Amino acid sequence: MPIATVNPATGELIEEFAALTKEQIDQRLTRAEAAAVTLRATDFGTRARWMRAAADLVEAEAAHTARRLTVEMGKPIVQARAEVLKCAHAMRFYADNAESLLADQALADPRTVNASVAYTAYQPLGVVLAVMPWNYPMWQVIRFAAPALMAGNVGLLKHASNVPQTAMYLDTLFERAGFPAGSFQTLLVGAADVEAVLRDRRVAAVTLTGSEPAGRSVAAVAGSEVKKVVLELGGSDPFVVLPSADVHAAARTAVSARTMNNGQSCIAAKRFIVHTEVYEAFVEAFVAGTKALTVGDPLDEGTDVGPIATESGRRELVDLVDDAVAKGAVLRCGGSAAGTRGWFFEPAVLEEVTPAMRVYREEAFGPLAVMHRVDDIEQAVTLANDTAFGLSSSVWTTDPDEERLLISRIDAGAVFVNGMSVSYPELPFGGVKASGVGRELAAEGIREFCNLKTIWKN
Ligand code: NDP
Repeated sequence: MPIATVNPATGELIEEFAALTKEQIDQRLTRAEAAAVTLRATDFGTRARWMRAAADLVEAEAAHTARRLTVEMGKPIVQARAEVLKCAHAMRFYADNAESLLADQALADPRTVNASVAYTAYQPLGVVLAVMPWNYPMWQVIRFAAPALMAGNVGLLKHASNVPQTAMYLDTLFERAGFPAGSFQTLLVGAADVEAVLRDRRVAAVTLTGSEPAGRSVAAVAGSEVKKVVLELGGSDPFVVLPSADVHAAARTAVSARTMNNGQSCIAAKRFIVHTEVYEAFVEAFVAGTKALTVGDPLDEGTDVGPIATESGRRELVDLVDDAVAKGAVLRCGGSAAGTRGWFFEPAVLEEVTPAMRVYREEAFGPLAVMHRVDDIEQAVTLANDTAFGLSSSVWTTDPDEERLLISRIDAGAVFVNGMSVSYPELPFGGVKASGVGRELAAEGIREFCNLKTIWKN
């Protein structure tokens, strides 16, 4: 895959980049190793000052950055701006809170371990490789970089090959804000070069956000090297609607939850599991809401849904729809490639989907919604869990018993009640099953790449 910016709204090649040579990769690893020594010796206050300066830069440059995101991967410009500003918020969150989140923790009674003092301390691991995807080209990187740098770690970014301009912006961002040279660098390399970088003795750990195959491959290398790994992979999140819920509010939110970011989000609701009593009302409102979306130029302020990021991504969606329809599914709207240029796809809604269809099991990475009718809450839970993934979930009910049951029985990293799944710096984020291992964000996220050191003193 070439390292290039190709505008998905037009198919036009904007800029192509040469991959780094082995020597250039080696130089960057050497700089990273040196930066890890320097950064480790700085205190939280200094790093917080640099992190706030980086957040200031991100805010001041938000308009340009947002446009770059939209041109590289097609998200609507309004959502691109929101993504950039959310990054600044996360940077300030970690600037403000890293020190307390990583504070030493003393054992209340050290005599129980025959010590005069016993405590734990979080210390940085060193150089962490981040393999990142194109769908939230700024946010996915910042939610790793902000906690990692605040903990005193150094970051090496291997970004997706279709967002090199954003990758190069991130390459200099932290240094411009005052961080020591080499604290955060981009490696413009293809996926095939990741293994050698990860096996390098100067790299201590790896985090990957992306597809399940990429995650399995990186985890296998990390495993063989005994290096810490965090994975945030795909999701096929259920969105469960029960009769006690406000069905119209649920349907309105459901349309956004399925189509935000052009439907290319790991925590997008993908499978709508609706009680038979409210099924018709929900589906009618959902289909009407989907048809009312404005699909078009993502640089236009009024656009709700832009193009799919890559041509292959769009082909994959069309194939999922064709396979389902050929096997008896009912296509309520959309489902085809649209427009004469670029990679547009008409947002689609499928009913009567069965396990024989690919879309029943596979993650639909685009605005393609699958409706399921269930007779009771037990059936809803069974269907919600009938997936290899377990990232997040959204459940709609006003009955406290139903709420308790759904929270306890859905196999996912999160349950959002009467709202859509969203990531917040303040809350841990991550999944179970094939959706990954480990957590990002909040206290858990910053602690993932730390050595939790035990100190015992006689
Ligand atoms: P990938 O998983 O292929 O790409 C994500 C990142 O991993 C990119 O930087 C990519 O590099 C890199 N990568 C890919 N394969 C390997 C490998 N074997 N070893 C090391 N690094 C690798 O995602 P795609 O863009 O191909 O999207 C495919 C599917 O992945 C989507 O349809 C969706 O299901 C899922 N996905 C999930 C995301 C999420 O947020 N959870 C985000 C993006 C995709 P390069 O770009 O150079 O190939």
